[in-house]
Amino acid sequence: MADPMTPAQWREALRAEGAPFTELEGWTSRGRDQATGKVFGPVNGVLNHHTAGRDSLALIAYWGQGAAVPAPLAHALLPKDGRLVLIADGRANHAGLAAKNSFDAIVAEKPIPRPSKASGTVDGNDRLYGLEVENLGNGTDAYSCAQYDTWVRFNAALCRHHDWGAGSCAGHLETSVEGKPDPRGPVEGYGRRGRFTFTMGQLRADVNERLAHAPSWNPPTAEETDMPDYLNLGLARGYRLAPGSWDDVEFTTEWTDEADGHPAGSANFVTGPAGFTGSLALRLERLPVGEVVQVRMTEYDAAGTLKHNHPPHEVIGTRGGTYSHVPLTKRIGPGRVMRVRVLNQAGEDVEVASAVLTAWVWAG
Ligand SMILES: [Zn+2]
Repeated sequence: MADPMTPAQWREALRAEGAPFTELEGWTSRGRDQATGKVFGPVNGVLNHHTAGRDSLALIAYWGQGAAVPAPLAHALLPKDGRLVLIADGRANHAGLAAKNSFDAIVAEKPIPRPSKASGTVDGNDRLYGLEVENLGNGTDAYSCAQYDTWVRFNAALCRHHDWGAGSCAGHLETSVEGKPDPRGPVEGYGRRGRFTFTMGQLRADVNERLAHAPSWNPPTAEETDMPDYLNLGLARGYRLAPGSWDDVEFTTEWTDEADGHPAGSANFVTGPAGFTGSLALRLERLPVGEVVQVRMTEYDAAGTLKHNHPPHEVIGTRGGTYSHVPLTKRIGPGRVMRVRVLNQAGEDVEVASAVLTAWVWAG
């Protein structure tokens, strides 16, 4: 139970949550409190609706649905462009009668049962904020990505202000004793999720995810996670490799490191959790014909302890300098880094004249 937000609190909560909005003139004094003699609040939750129409601002703010259901019909409207319009901060005609069993579950933030008229009814307009989300409600009209993103932010902003969990967010279909079906329909996408069917359960999960982060948080997008980062490292100059022991290749030239997995001057080239695919182009000098240099990837933990050796790749000496492309494709877990190591099995020093690592890296 809580006092309804003041206009200043509305603005502050929505701005902090990154929910874009405009204000309809007169919204700070619009409401049904005077006309009904009933005061809006204390508030217990947010009720979500679809408009079942297009361009519904005038209808929701001014016209209402005839004498029986005067405007305002919501506190805010969320059009397809994802920019909220604040309509009223007083009592709004959106909820009608809420089944008491559903309403009690919202207050307690428990799973909401099917609304039962037999359990009694509560005037939802006294106790619930109302959001109308623009959608035809025909089951095929889709909520846009921008619209759904703001939808989650709106619910999270109100919950965060009142110190509620997402259990305080409900859909009209969860409270209505008249069989209202809203909100429903497909959603074009959210974060890294593609098209999906709207459910209140999913909306609440997305609101809870927001509430677990700072209000400035943005859900990671498919673009950020699906596009691999480019990595291109090399040696500033060649070096001598003595026989007999494994040696880290320390990449001293960093042309590109979009993944930030290669600290300057380090042998680490990828930091987990990550997947990568690429190759190491090696040029060796003075490796006798038929002699072998082994190349392998080795995983270390953050403290530099060797954790896992991957199978070695053999580079066999050929006349006139030895060239080899070593494939590098692996996935490493969190807390691990990957290095490339070489072992000179010849009886004499060889020169690692050039080593160029090129890879695509993606997080996770
Ligand atoms: Zn509704």
